[in-house]
Amino acid sequence: MNDHPSDKARVTFRITVPKNLTAVATGTLRRTTTKGDRTTYVYGTRGPIPTEVVQVAVGRYKKITATGPGGLPLRSYVPADQADKTRPYVDQIGKQIAWVQKMIGSAYPYETYGVLVPQGDYGAALETATLSTLGLSTPDDVPTMIHELVHQYFGNAVSLKSWDDMWISEGHASYYTLRYQEEKKITPLKESVERTYEYDQENRSETGPPGWLKDPGDVLGSTNAPGLLMLHGLNQQVGEATFQKIEKTFFERFRHKTASTQDYINVANEVSGRDFSAYIKSWIYGAKTPPYPTSAPTPTQTEGHKVRAVGPPSHT
Ligand SMILES: [Zn+2]
Repeated sequence: MNDHPSDKARVTFRITVPKNLTAVATGTLRRTTTKGDRTTYVYGTRGPIPTEVVQVAVGRYKKITATGPGGLPLRSYVPADQADKTRPYVDQIGKQIAWVQKMIGSAYPYETYGVLVPQGDYGAALETATLSTLGLSTPDDVPTMIHELVHQYFGNAVSLKSWDDMWISEGHASYYTLRYQEEKKITPLKESVERTYEYDQENRSETGPPGWLKDPGDVLGSTNAPGLLMLHGLNQQVGEATFQKIEKTFFERFRHKTASTQDYINVANEVSGRDFSAYIKSWIYGAKTPPYPTSAPTPTQTEGHKVRAVGPPSHT
């Protein structure tokens, strides 16, 4: 495993543990065999996953199973002593998947999903493939559940050609989380976008743009804001229906493959019939925060039935 987002493989884990413990891993449990006081768990993924997002855990875990949209098998693992506390959150996963499927217009890309709530203080959340890893103890963890779930689409199923394309992963995960928060009346989208815009203005000169970060260590933290702002602005300019078509087309074209920023630009231009190259590049490679993303008047001219493609829209 190369620990690079473009490196994908089908993965099998064989983990032998004392039989009073449970071994958990990315993918589906294929079999368990017990010999004496040891149990061997074999997990595998049906399709390719990025090898940078595999997960293995061993401990006292309780498995919670359910059925998601379209019969998707769900399984989550929570610390055995926190089963009651985490259950209300785990029980929301099926509906969360249905929501993300509706937004992107495409089925969840793997053979199973669920969360791993680690024992002890994990202190982070990670989009480990088919099995997101995160803490679940307060309603504030629900947006994180959406963020990691969206990463299964963008970041995992569509992984990245290079680390400079990380906004495709973090921008999408963050953008749909804000949409979820708006729809569930947690935080209005406008308020979230304004706050994020200020953040980008304050931080971009120090971190560099998401496509050319100054410090590689910022790759998971400094790619969220610019990525989601670019997507929000794109939505504002093309409207919800075309935006959804761009997202669905991009996702389905690069599902189980890798994609670059240029690949996203190509799909946005092709689907919208307009040229968003300069607009998208300004958010991903620009040294300064671009103008606030608002809906610009659609600069198209009709010639009979033909809509002529025009250059990038102006921002005011
Ligand atoms: Zn993320």
